[in-house]
Amino acid sequence: MDAAPYIIAGGGIAGLATALALAPAPTLMLERAIAFEEVGAGLQLGPNAVRALQKLGAWAAVEPFSSSPPEIHIWDGLSGKLLKRLQLKDSFEKRFGAPYRVIHRADLHAALLSVARNLSNLTIRTGMEVAGWRETISGVDVIVAQNDQIHGAFLFGCDGVNSSLRLKAVPDSTVVDSSLTLHRTLIDVPRTGRGIEWDCINLWLCPGAHAVHYPVGAKQRLNIVATARNGVTLSSAFARTTPPLQQLLTSPSKWLPWPGLYAPPLNHWQYSSMLLLGDAAHGTLPLLAQGGAMALEDAAFLKDHGPPPRAGDSIWEARHKRTAKLHAATLRIAKHYHAIGLHALLRNLVIGSLSGQQFTNRLSWIYEG
Ligand SMILES: Cc1cc2nc3c(=O)[nH]c(=O)nc-3n(C[C@H](O)[C@H](O)[C@H](O)COP(=O)(O)OP(=O)(O)OC[C@H]3O[C@@H](n4cnc5c(N)ncnc54)[C@H](O)[C@@H]3O)c2cc1C
Repeated sequence: MDAAPYIIAGGGIAGLATALALAPAPTLMLERAIAFEEVGAGLQLGPNAVRALQKLGAWAAVEPFSSSPPEIHIWDGLSGKLLKRLQLKDSFEKRFGAPYRVIHRADLHAALLSVARNLSNLTIRTGMEVAGWRETISGVDVIVAQNDQIHGAFLFGCDGVNSSLRLKAVPDSTVVDSSLTLHRTLIDVPRTGRGIEWDCINLWLCPGAHAVHYPVGAKQRLNIVATARNGVTLSSAFARTTPPLQQLLTSPSKWLPWPGLYAPPLNHWQYSSMLLLGDAAHGTLPLLAQGGAMALEDAAFLKDHGPPPRAGDSIWEARHKRTAKLHAATLRIAKHYHAIGLHALLRNLVIGSLSGQQFTNRLSWIYEG
């Protein structure tokens, strides 16, 4: 590389998408892990995420690994009543100009990586932990924990919700613990399940807890995420719920707990020659299934608006507003998802009274982007 490259810290969804957005400019990606691992579970890709992947030139690589759930089903977990069926096919796709898909995170990551590896001007180095950066007259010196220093034109901080770059830029931006734990697992799709359509996205709203499941991957295994308060076991969080849900949640032999952390909303993502993107800038709880989508949107925005200016980030205000709105909506919706008593009754009445079209209208700001 002759010209100083753009440097990306982190090779997750945000980092890879950013690399695609910067192409064909010379770019160096530094990933802390020694090797890319197959981590994570299912991800929902709303139409906004799919459009971003299309803009980044990655949709053709991603699409074959995605599945197409026909509907979202919202259940009251206590009574087992199906409150709403939300069509995700024809009119939904037509309205938002892209399909609603689900995918295993490892498949999405592998597909993005395969596209990135074909970029002639991108170098990916693993086992490289970015520890900080220093402004220089011509760009930025990126400090790597391995005692290395690399000169770049600009640094993109895509180092996830626990971002050390965010903490360096804004020392009081430590992650916030939502007091929720997300328990994830993958199991074979059950053969029975009294009225449950396993190919759909099923969302179960329960007092103080909720669960989501849908099939992912070539083997179509059922991805389940069950969310409960910290320290509460799943068996006690879902103890009073409807038998089919209890049966489902007792069948996995192993769950992986994931702390429900989010990044405090920031007023700025750009700190002179460093710009935070993805979870590092706006990591949020996955209750609206939009964290990865926001990272993809950030990159699509970067592609549209070119490399960021050296000072001032007013161009990014639209992205701040959008992610802050999403973050606020996520915290609000947690209360409705986990409502008890009268609140739950009212929630169910509202959901039940809305037509599919009206329900979709309420979500349209998310998918329209
Ligand atoms: C249970 C669960 C379900 C979810 N469901 C959805 C969903 O349905 N839809 C959706 O859109 N989103 C969903 N999300 C959110 C989504 O997974 C994240 O928003 C997304 O993965 C964030 O990507 P990222 O690249 O910003 O961060 P990460 O995936 O955390 O990647 C950060 C990368 O940076 C590397 N790194 C860290 N520090 C350094 C350093 N100092 N130097 C170099 N490299 C470093 C890490 O090793 C990692 O590879 C879900 C999340 C969870 C937990």
